[in-house]
Amino acid sequence: MKFSPLSSWLTSHGSQALLISGPCGAESREQVLQTAQGLSQLNRVDLFRAGVWKPRTRPGTFEGKGEEALKWLQEVKTQFGFKTTVEVATAAHVELALKYGVDVLWIGARSTANPFSVQEIADALKGKDVPVMVKNPVQADLQLWIGAIERVYNAGITKLAAIHRGFHFYGKSQYRNEPVWQIPIELRTLFPELSLFCDPSHICGNKEGIPSVAQKALDLGMDGLMIESHYQPENALSDKEQQFTPQALGEVLAHLVQREQLHRGDKRVDRLIELRKIIDQIDEDILNSVQRRNRIIEQIGLYKKEHNISIFQLERWQEILRTRAGWAEHLGLSLQHVEKLCQLLHEESIRLQNALMNK
Ligand code: PEP
Ligand code: MN
Repeated sequence: MKFSPLSSWLTSHGSQALLISGPCGAESREQVLQTAQGLSQLNRVDLFRAGVWKPRTRPGTFEGKGEEALKWLQEVKTQFGFKTTVEVATAAHVELALKYGVDVLWIGARSTANPFSVQEIADALKGKDVPVMVKNPVQADLQLWIGAIERVYNAGITKLAAIHRGFHFYGKSQYRNEPVWQIPIELRTLFPELSLFCDPSHICGNKEGIPSVAQKALDLGMDGLMIESHYQPENALSDKEQQFTPQALGEVLAHLVQREQLHRGDKRVDRLIELRKIIDQIDEDILNSVQRRNRIIEQIGLYKKEHNISIFQLERWQEILRTRAGWAEHLGLSLQHVEKLCQLLHEESIRLQNALMNK
């Protein structure tokens, strides 16, 4: 595939990452125009987003205003000079969006997950000259993401971008959608010419996490950010927890550091920052392992309770110390340090089992 970089076509802010912002959904003329008005004052937004057809997990919630809202987006273009983008999920959406002069279309995570939907959209795009952004599918499946990009590309669309918005994870997590950074990194490695954006709003599901996820995306060299904003987030009809007011978005942006791609031999390489990033990733991996370990411990606790076995088993503890000391030696780690780590893990194991047994 041979792509035309979407970011350079759209951005009007030099080497800064492309910025897409606007409400999760277009709710009313007033909301759309007030939000656009706030964003125009930031002088930083390249593309105004608003969902006109909202794919909702459960029925009976706000599903978008449809065609009526496309007229509000036309006003955004004429009043504030923004280019606009909406999510399309069917051939009819594509026709309507183009009829009302939407500049860029995007395919949402739920649609990307369904090849029939993507193909329908791709067929409707044949012969049209409109840039398209493809969000990753809800599940962590790189091939499915690539497949959707291919279907759109095969319809003749070369102004294409991928949007990383995280992946569904069944279980407790600090994220609404797990970022699984290795997937966008792999996509970038396979298709270096394809514009790659990040949507920290849908990764985090709350405002608090967005700055660091956005910074990480920039640190990884992503070309743009899609961040939801609403002039009155507290009244939003969808995704209210994760939307910034335009002003608050301005503050977040002011703290983001735009990094440049480093080339071999570049004198500006800040070695410490690079190494600390690796440490951050390793620590995150360690904590994920601790969480997995605790899950198993809970199963052990339940089993012991059912079979009336005492929590502390001296032989097992001695075996742990012996085997881990062996591994430590083999890995060239400090024996003392590994023993301390084992003790910490063991303490927590006993605490968890105790809590379970005496519930
Ligand atoms: C959205 O951008 O508001 C949206 C519905 O996103 P996603 O498809 O990533 O869930
Ligand atoms: Mn949303």
